[in-house]
Amino acid sequence: MFCPQCGRENEELFKGLCRSCFLTQSHLITLPPELEVELCAHCTSTHFGGKWQELNLSEDDIIAKTVYEECIPDMYAEDVTLTLEIINQKGSVQELMVMAKGKVLGQSLERERRISVNIKRTVCPECSKFISGYYEAVIQLRADQRPLKPDEIQKADDIISRRLEKLVRKNRMAYLTQKAELKEGVDYYLGSYKAARKISSGLKDQMGGIIKESPRIIGRDKSRGKDLFRIWISLRLPIFEKEDFLAYGDHLGQIVDLKGNKIILRDLDTMEITSQSWKEYSNLERVAKREDIHTTTITSKTPTSIQVLHPEKYQPHDLDIRPELSFVNIGDQVKVVEIRKKLYILPSNEKKMEITNK
Ligand SMILES: [Zn+2]
Ligand SMILES: [Zn+2]
Repeated sequence: MFCPQCGRENEELFKGLCRSCFLTQSHLITLPPELEVELCAHCTSTHFGGKWQELNLSEDDIIAKTVYEECIPDMYAEDVTLTLEIINQKGSVQELMVMAKGKVLGQSLERERRISVNIKRTVCPECSKFISGYYEAVIQLRADQRPLKPDEIQKADDIISRRLEKLVRKNRMAYLTQKAELKEGVDYYLGSYKAARKISSGLKDQMGGIIKESPRIIGRDKSRGKDLFRIWISLRLPIFEKEDFLAYGDHLGQIVDLKGNKIILRDLDTMEITSQSWKEYSNLERVAKREDIHTTTITSKTPTSIQVLHPEKYQPHDLDIRPELSFVNIGDQVKVVEIRKKLYILPSNEKKMEITNK
């Protein structure tokens, strides 16, 4: 075989050329003269490999990664490495010298290629949703038959911002786009429904209450043939608060704690800790508030009775002694509450003890 380029005979041909001519003509790599890198101007996302992603790389490294990705080594080329050098930067366009080293047919080769990279700053889809105020869910914080208290709103604000801070690390849509204070409560507009769900159950865990979800169709995604929903999650806080008194069935109890799944009570008769499910909410009646707790004085004590001053009428009240009240002494200050015309002593050690009126 002879080489058509140099005319040498008896040569092994590579793509129709002798080894020497083939090496001289080899570009080592193929690289487009113009490349584009698309970055989000608002966050650190990069449009790479056909999708927006968080590469956690510097801008220079993203450019280098793009160059490597677009670089195709020639046939017979091996061990190709690239070195990049910025030779000019004009506005958003960077000119680079790409130095390629490698081996072709066992021979070391070096080639240089000058390319330009356009750094395009746009807005990624997630940021564009955020900027436009897009939201998937609304948490409606309300209270039953009463306005929300400022400290309840403060507590909810704190819980929401702390949760969002954690959630946004894995879910870019975990943002609060709007908070609306209304007469009936507060509405929190959240970018992600999943995040809203986690946040609302976090609020319920710490504040109690009843959650209801109502989805509404807001349109249709024609490309996917699916309805688009927006979810309203209402969290209704109870009418009562910690330390208030509830009647349940024929029992009375003081609220020790409000948990996400139940209301913890201390029964005023048995002094035992019990709990009620939020499902029973409509069967619970608040019979006294924590503001109804008064302090009074033990005025006398016999083996069978105890006398206190009624906290509001200032008249002596005789009450049956119970074993739990043996520690009480004349002159002691005690906390009492009057429920349905009965006085109950609430000792300072947080045990609730009952005295029956005589
Ligand atoms: Zn030749
Ligand atoms: Zn972005």
